[in-house]
Amino acid sequence: MKNLICIECPIGCSLQAEKTGEQWDIKGNRCRKGEQFAINELTDPRRSVCSTVRTIYKEVPRLPVRTNGEVPLQAIFEVMEQINAVTLDHPVHIGEIIIENVSNTGINVVATSDLYCLLEAN
Ligand code: SF4
Repeated sequence: MKNLICIECPIGCSLQAEKTGEQWDIKGNRCRKGEQFAINELTDPRRSVCSTVRTIYKEVPRLPVRTNGEVPLQAIFEVMEQINAVTLDHPVHIGEIIIENVSNTGINVVATSDLYCLLEAN
């Protein structure tokens, strides 16, 4: 039996998951989201990644970014390596793609702040 805490909402139900054959039996969830959360977490765990990238601008040396979807847990180290390798040499708007198809996940890394605005403000 596996024990997990559902993180889909602030209630944080304690879940117990047991596999019988190909079927997962999930207990402790107050709603169906918890069942799906447990199955995903045990079969294909994924996370969003939030970080920053370097820029060439002294006034704004780092720009916040995030993945525009969840990437497989085992890809996070490689995703972070690619994010850490970026040095932005031009302004970007919020939502602009900084890394396309990061680590071949089909997910993009996008800007979560507007570098044009940040440079203007400084
Ligand atoms: S199982 Fe439902 S109610 Fe419980 S934490 Fe998850 S989303 Fe919230």
